[in-house]
Amino acid sequence: MRLDVLGVKFDSLTMQQAVSHACEIMDSGEKAYIVTPNPEIVWMCRKDENLRRIVNAAGLVLPDGIGVIIAARILKTPIREKVTGVEFAELLFAKMAESGKSIYLLGAKPGVAEEAGRRLAEKYPGLVISGTSDGYFKDDAAIIEKINAVSPDFLAVCLGAPKQEFWMAENLDKLDVNLMGGFGGSLDIYAGVTNRPPRWIQRLQLEWLYRLIKQPRRIVRMIKLPLFLFCVIWRRMRGK
Ligand code: UDP
Repeated sequence: MRLDVLGVKFDSLTMQQAVSHACEIMDSGEKAYIVTPNPEIVWMCRKDENLRRIVNAAGLVLPDGIGVIIAARILKTPIREKVTGVEFAELLFAKMAESGKSIYLLGAKPGVAEEAGRRLAEKYPGLVISGTSDGYFKDDAAIIEKINAVSPDFLAVCLGAPKQEFWMAENLDKLDVNLMGGFGGSLDIYAGVTNRPPRWIQRLQLEWLYRLIKQPRRIVRMIKLPLFLFCVIWRRMRGK
């Protein structure tokens, strides 16, 4: 069952269930993509019907960010657990390593995906890095050809939101890949270009504040967060 937060239908799963479900999709032969919307994306979906359609058509819609969890609670349809994209993808890679599965890393600045791949392969022996490409390409067809030449078990599309969601939906049928997922700035984190906050900040659910302090220009994006929560409270008060 999916739970509705302002029109985006989230899967209510634990992190482990989400990883298991992704593995099932990968083995099923069905083609799908995974999205991990945060409040900012949910807000964008309110304004952009096409984006909402694309997000809701995903094989897995995972709540990235405490804002979505709080919103679902306010709406009296609590979602089981926050499933942060960067953590989910890494756990999925760890699981895939056990059976020698392969991934392709697409996105971030030149050199970052290679470094992320090198570090992931070192951390998870058995994981095959079948290719990497930076996210500043002009020619979709050339990238698709490169990916199809190695036909990975999983494609990580890290182009930032909503670019990665549009890209995955547009190219799903052209790609010789069963499952892919959009994970924003995750490659920067795996490569050590940017850092996640210390555990205690994560535990206090203040990752968003840490990111804002590190990258003050995010304020322009984050300004939507209070609007998002206001809208959720408004909806709850009107009983919708
Ligand atoms: N990026 C990219 N191609 C683009 C624009 C962005 O590969 O055309 C990358 C960028 O280098 C960064 C990631 O997408 O690695 C976006 O990171 P951010 O933390 O802003 O993403 P979010 O998770 O917040 O969507």
